[in-house]
Amino acid sequence: MSARPRVVVLGGGFAGLEGCFYARWKLGERAELTLVSDTDHFVFRPNTIYIPFGAPPEKFLIPLEEPTRKGNIRFIRSSVRGVDPDRRVVELEQGPVEYDYLLIATGADMRPDEIPGLREHGITPWTIDDMLRIRDALQQTAQRAKEGKHTQFVFVIPPNNRCSGPLYELVLMIDTWLRREGIRDQVSLVWTTVEEGYIQAFGPRLNTVVEEEFSERGIEGHRGWVVSHVEPGKVHYTNGEAVAFDYLLCFPPYVAARRYELLPVDERGFLQVESDSRRVQGREREFAAGDAANFPIKQAFLALLQADAAADHIAADVAGEQPSVRFEPMSMCIMEEMNKATFATVPLRYTDDPLKPVTVDEERAGEYRVGVSPLWRVGKKILGVYLPWRFSHAQPFHAGLAWDAMDLGLKVLSKVLAK
Ligand SMILES: Cc1cc2nc3c(=O)[nH]c(=O)nc-3n(C[C@H](O)[C@H](O)[C@H](O)COP(=O)(O)OP(=O)(O)OC[C@H]3O[C@@H](n4cnc5c(N)ncnc54)[C@H](O)[C@@H]3O)c2cc1C
Repeated sequence: MSARPRVVVLGGGFAGLEGCFYARWKLGERAELTLVSDTDHFVFRPNTIYIPFGAPPEKFLIPLEEPTRKGNIRFIRSSVRGVDPDRRVVELEQGPVEYDYLLIATGADMRPDEIPGLREHGITPWTIDDMLRIRDALQQTAQRAKEGKHTQFVFVIPPNNRCSGPLYELVLMIDTWLRREGIRDQVSLVWTTVEEGYIQAFGPRLNTVVEEEFSERGIEGHRGWVVSHVEPGKVHYTNGEAVAFDYLLCFPPYVAARRYELLPVDERGFLQVESDSRRVQGREREFAAGDAANFPIKQAFLALLQADAAADHIAADVAGEQPSVRFEPMSMCIMEEMNKATFATVPLRYTDDPLKPVTVDEERAGEYRVGVSPLWRVGKKILGVYLPWRFSHAQPFHAGLAWDAMDLGLKVLSKVLAK
């Protein structure tokens, strides 16, 4: 190892930035930090759901140059090609970089081609451009309504999707938007999901919330429908059903954004890690966090928790101390509906069922809290300010006095507005 250990972080998303800033916060200048990303900005993806309704896309981007400079972190803008763990070298498009500790956080990607016809005929909400396509669809729907024409939107959650929540946000937000535009009765919203329960990963209470919302809002919902293929204007399911659409919004199946051939990965390229530490299985110095790793639910909040655990283990190794943070699978989400929002904290545990690898942890039932209120929209807005503020100042989300205050505020709100 060189005089100061070299910690290299791959990926400038939630897990990468949190891991980088947490390591700097914990270690000070005792390590050399390098961040590699193929883009020069961070995308606050959870809040891109506001773009279809008029929010400017640039509002959700944080340039990486300034926070990395503030954190004394070397920033390399380049695409990662692979990792040679035995030589401790990352292969970048622009050449090799050596490391002593590596945190891989290159995230997930979507693979629409697993569903024939989806790429050609559907919208797959993932990038800012996709959100702008939904904005166009809504504008065209308003125009069609003026001309007395009916429009049908169909929403699809397919197998191997790992984060269904945002599509639920979009259908509920679109419903609210159509009502505000006074054109809801000229639009049908049809929801189909492979899940047995709505937002299945988050347990029965979220299913009930969505059932009630769908029934109140007149959204037609179908659970246990598996999409098979899409043709122009019609989506087909393995149960023989077919639904016509003017617009199809489908979250495609997930795969790892980059497959690391020399490290243990599952069939979709997600890195196999030890649960507590996020250390890559069978390796000493390589860690993975966020969507790139094999936790079955892909979520920003979980990505941050994983990055904290990984960075804490790296920092402890460097400092010759015991790690103090381990990854505990506890999800937290605020689901926007535009007139109100649903808040949930969901303690999760692993199962042996490959079709349902995590479930709500009944032993921690007291921590399973759900609440629906317009005030939760304020909570979502505060998180939307807090996280960019922390990252812009090279500070981790989950650390220090600011997080203690934020955490306390969420706990108080949750006591009053959730049960
Ligand atoms: C529309 C939408 C809404 C969402 N809403 C929520 C929400 O409300 N709450 C929530 O918790 N989660 C939400 N999610 C999920 C959340 O966005 C992801 O779980 C989160 O972004 C994962 O963080 P990450 O750091 O692992 O990956 P990412 O944020 O995807 O970051 C990966 C980084 O790696 C970089 N990268 C990728 N490949 C390479 C390469 N080869 N070389 C170099 N760099 C590379 C990328 O450019 C990026 O900077 C939402 C997702 C979507 C699509």
